[in-house]
Amino acid sequence: MAVDFRFIIIGRGMMGAAAARHLSSMADSIALIGPREPEQRKAHDGLFASHYDEARITRTFDGNLAWGSFAARALGRYREIEARSGVSFFSEVGCLFTGPTPKDEQDYISQALTVSRTLGSDIETIAPSELRQRFSYLAVDPDFTGYFEGKRAGHINPRALVRAQTRLAEQGGVSLIEAVATSVRDAGSHVEVTAGGRSYSAERVLVAAGGFSNFHTLLPRPVDTRVLARTVAFYEIGEREMAIFGDMPSTIVLGDREEDHIYILPPVRYPDGKTYLKLGGDTEALSFERLEDVGTWFRSDGNASERDHLSAIALQLMPELAGCPVTSAPCVANFTPTGYPYAGFTQSPRIAVLTGGNFVAAKSSDELGRLGAVLLTDGQLGEKDFGRELTPVFA
Ligand SMILES: Cc1cc2nc3c(=O)[nH]c(=O)nc-3n(C[C@H](O)[C@H](O)[C@H](O)COP(=O)(O)OP(=O)(O)OC[C@H]3O[C@@H](n4cnc5c(N)ncnc54)[C@H](O)[C@@H]3O)c2cc1C
Repeated sequence: MAVDFRFIIIGRGMMGAAAARHLSSMADSIALIGPREPEQRKAHDGLFASHYDEARITRTFDGNLAWGSFAARALGRYREIEARSGVSFFSEVGCLFTGPTPKDEQDYISQALTVSRTLGSDIETIAPSELRQRFSYLAVDPDFTGYFEGKRAGHINPRALVRAQTRLAEQGGVSLIEAVATSVRDAGSHVEVTAGGRSYSAERVLVAAGGFSNFHTLLPRPVDTRVLARTVAFYEIGEREMAIFGDMPSTIVLGDREEDHIYILPPVRYPDGKTYLKLGGDTEALSFERLEDVGTWFRSDGNASERDHLSAIALQLMPELAGCPVTSAPCVANFTPTGYPYAGFTQSPRIAVLTGGNFVAAKSSDELGRLGAVLLTDGQLGEKDFGRELTPVFA
């Protein structure tokens, strides 16, 4: 049977839009299906996404070789994507990790230093005595060491990156269908996708629907992931604070306890015209299994006690933030039991899945999208693309 498209990608998010861009230089007859960001978050009764924000940390410094490699490969293409799309999204302000000096080889920092040598990343180790002098905005424990990646690190604007990827995909001939897919079915010789009340057929489909991959009937069997709530705190920054925090790099503080780990984005201007310094942690346990519950979460302001917890840490680390208005916002992160993203075929040889950002995939989304595109064209991923590690696990 003649199909409408050779390939359909479901999900116009960070991974899906990147997959569409890469695929557009490998094949013809491609559709990218996904809605745009809702204009009124609190009144929206539909899908959301994990990239509706202005800043995500980017770095190659990572305790895991696969994740470090994905980030390094994606980072290597940022400037080209910016130049070709005319959309700028990368602020190369550097990224500082700080924490207690590693105790052994199993420590995250020890492993990240090993990975950085493999990747050829330039990481400067900063002694505790120097840390406060160099990064005066931050009041960390006097025993903490710093690990600074000055180049190929900083932050990206996730909305702008998705815009750039989508623009280049369309320029490459991809048909953009602004709709929600409500079913994906292997029909034997092809796949049938229903979206926006219409039906589309394709030889192969890639489901890249982020934390929403298990909702609707997009996959033959659900993937084993946990969709967890994440709350972020925003400090509204004025001129006085800009003088203190304006030049800071993206910062990750590994406290002595896991609940004290925190990531901080430097002041960034938001669409409301205000400038915010943002911070978040990684320990919220609230998880979602129903679309309605994720919707309710995204319409909220996040978790008030998490916001207060983040605020308390923020004021300890950056006392100069005292007095700045604090707000919070909700997001979700999609965690896999393997710790790796999923990029592989489902029970159907025609339906593949690309998801499982594990709270860290924005920076690497261009490379993960490339892997999704290779999967559709070649049917599998090789060793240098970490194909085995990325094998999806199904519930
Ligand atoms: C608070 C927070 C902070 C983070 N900070 C960082 C960071 O500093 N650095 C970093 O690298 N990463 C960070 N991340 C992680 C990063 O944002 C995610 O890993 C990334 O967005 C995942 O990309 P994705 O394409 O899988 O999902 P998304 O970006 O969520 O995209 C999924 C897309 O699928 C679409 N979709 C869903 N269902 C359907 C359907 N049925 N039909 C059509 N379309 C559908 C959605 O509309 C959405 O556009 C953070 C995440 C959160 C929540």
